[in-house]
Amino acid sequence: MNQSQPLLSVEQVCKSFGNRQVSKNIEFFLQKGEIGCLLGPSGCGKTTLLRVIAGFESIQSGAVRIDGRIVSSSTTSEPPERRAIGMVFQDYALFPHLCVSENVGFGLGKLPKSERQKRVGDLLCLVGLEEVANNYPHEISGGQQQRVALARALAPQPELLLLDEPFSNLDALLRERLTVEVRDILKELGTTALLVTHNQHEAFSVADKIGVLFDGTMQQWDDAHSIYHNPASLEVAKFVGEGSLISGKVEAPGKINTALGLLEGNFSTPCLDGCSVDLLIRPEDILHVEDESMKARVLKKSFRGPNIVYLLQLPSGERCQALVSSHHNHRIGEEIGILPEVDNLIVFPKDCQP
Ligand code: ATP
Repeated sequence: MNQSQPLLSVEQVCKSFGNRQVSKNIEFFLQKGEIGCLLGPSGCGKTTLLRVIAGFESIQSGAVRIDGRIVSSSTTSEPPERRAIGMVFQDYALFPHLCVSENVGFGLGKLPKSERQKRVGDLLCLVGLEEVANNYPHEISGGQQQRVALARALAPQPELLLLDEPFSNLDALLRERLTVEVRDILKELGTTALLVTHNQHEAFSVADKIGVLFDGTMQQWDDAHSIYHNPASLEVAKFVGEGSLISGKVEAPGKINTALGLLEGNFSTPCLDGCSVDLLIRPEDILHVEDESMKARVLKKSFRGPNIVYLLQLPSGERCQALVSSHHNHRIGEEIGILPEVDNLIVFPKDCQP
């Protein structure tokens, strides 16, 4: 395969149900071996897009290509079984009357028996389920069921694996562990995958590329670092991570006057001098330094074990958060010293007339 040709191309895809447009000119690309994640609030169109790629939904315009060949357009729709796609669903959809190894081998009927057994054995080993190979789905835990579903989807060696909220039925701890495990497994096999979630921590820990969707529009397709530190829109900034917006005025290139003082750094978007902006302050941008002269009042606190996230009120009345070691346990209403350390100035211009 040509190295620069994406394994999955979604090109200007539009999808409507009746007169309701659910996917609006969606475009993104996944290279072979990359893991992508569609992230966004409920109803933004994540599952619809996954179903379009899988071939369960037709599209009105645009195209979907897998390994260069068009599988969906306004005039063509290759059936799901011809797309060389594997799917893992939210409810795992395991066959209850088949044991673990039979579930994993289900789609391998065409292979000679010895080859089938080897493939199933290798996959069970990869996902760490050799010891429950003869158990039935009801005899294993939710996390194990999820791994069976993954192994079953991987068994026919699909070109592309689609996962729809694969961890949502699991408790938080298991979910976190499995997310990392699944990433390791996919990377070991070099499988290209696209996952749907509304959980940003999951997206951050599993994906090479994240697509943030709002109301059927792809607002940003980027790596996790850029999505967090350089959000393309106010909506992405508010949806991903924690933070508060404070207002500021651009004094000079790279300098903004705010209630936190004159902040200097790299602008996320070029702004004219004199421009009014909203500036995104992440909790880790505000350090707590006991004897700093700049003070803020504690309005709320959220204990996170090693850290506390304080919601603070600045003398201007504006609010921001501060991520502070939980050794510094302050009361609500207390005034604490703060030091802004904002290198990356994430600005959203409000009025660019100087
Ligand atoms: P969630 O996170 O809640 O699963 P989502 O981002 O996956 O949401 P979709 O399931 O893709 O969102 O739905 C997007 C919009 O399309 C919703 O408003 C939904 O009601 C609508 N929709 C989805 N499937 C159909 C359908 N078959 N017919 C009509 N409308 C549909």
